[in-house]
Amino acid sequence: MQIQENISLRPYNTFGIDINARYFVTFTNNDELEELTADASRLPTLILGGGSNILFTKDYDGLVLKNEIKGIAELHEDSEYVYVKAGAGENWHQFVLHCIQRNWAGVENLSLIPGSVGASPMQNIGAYGVEIDDIFWDLEAYHINERKIVTFTRSDCEFGYRESVFKKKYKDQFVILNVTFRLRKKPRFNTSYGAIEQELERMGVRDLSIKAISDAVINIRSSKLPNPEEIGNAGSFFKNPSVSNEQYTRLKSAYENIAAYPNANGTIKLAAGWLIEQCGWKGFRKGDTGCHAKQALVLVNYGNATGREKYQLSEEILQRVKEKFGVTLEREVNII
Ligand SMILES: Cc1cc2nc3c(=O)[nH]c(=O)nc-3n(C[C@H](O)[C@H](O)[C@H](O)COP(=O)(O)OP(=O)(O)OC[C@H]3O[C@@H](n4cnc5c(N)ncnc54)[C@H](O)[C@@H]3O)c2cc1C
Repeated sequence: MQIQENISLRPYNTFGIDINARYFVTFTNNDELEELTADASRLPTLILGGGSNILFTKDYDGLVLKNEIKGIAELHEDSEYVYVKAGAGENWHQFVLHCIQRNWAGVENLSLIPGSVGASPMQNIGAYGVEIDDIFWDLEAYHINERKIVTFTRSDCEFGYRESVFKKKYKDQFVILNVTFRLRKKPRFNTSYGAIEQELERMGVRDLSIKAISDAVINIRSSKLPNPEEIGNAGSFFKNPSVSNEQYTRLKSAYENIAAYPNANGTIKLAAGWLIEQCGWKGFRKGDTGCHAKQALVLVNYGNATGREKYQLSEEILQRVKEKFGVTLEREVNII
């Protein structure tokens, strides 16, 4: 293991923010991780996957540990399911493709989400009507201070909308080492969300398959979302906020076209992108920072924006949405 000093993290975050880490190292197994975190008086540590859900606002005065634990293995199967374990450092989309090739169903709607397998349970990644929660079996994580490996079942993870215990009560305590998924041998297609059905029709698909759904999702996402390799971004910057039924009724009478979906618990989820767009931010640009021209919810870096500029823009968006709609947005992206 080679610890590098004062290196730019620009290649390691999809916003392309140019800040320095005091120390940076990659680890490929648990023994290396244990060795790197052995010193109790060590510097602060940051676990990094693909850097696609992080906004760096300043230089990192500590040790960045980039997770490169690899490997995908079929553990066992029963009549309905196959149990597949993947190293935290595997690329999420490559893992999805690996499953689709083998006809293991359940991950197809989550195609083309950037980042690593290890970060996927952190915020219970989701898209097109499917979340990690739906396919998760268990994970192993290393407790940095107690120096032990703990297994988390689905209920231990307390998954919620873009939430888990790892973002709340266990924040910064565990390093996820691997995740096991329970995938279906016989698919249950989920095409009702977003524009999947229209896209399948446009593609001329007659025999539905998980590969066809994955391709449809890839097409939709590629046409709607900026590719971080071309324009720096971290996907949706804010979560979709939920409001009470009463507040929704008031908003609906003032804004007839408000985009909203009912939650199972009776509250109403509003589309954060719609709220932000109504405040005039869509396509906004100031210097190298702004909101994407096709999706106001995606903050972008056109070149050399700083993390502080992006954070400041997110503050202004929060305030304007609060003033106009009385709704408080919450950031989805991790601010460092
Ligand atoms: C274009 C684009 C589209 C996106 N679309 C979606 C989407 O549809 N749905 C969705 O849910 N998300 C989406 N995202 C967000 C992002 O892809 C996910 O949150 C992804 O899971 C982040 O993975 P990562 O490896 O890049 O995590 P990072 O950004 O590296 O890390 C995110 C957080 O997790 C922590 N972390 C990372 N790995 C570990 C580990 N092994 N153990 C402990 N902590 C860890 C980090 O410290 C940090 O706090 C999108 C992002 C982009 C750029």
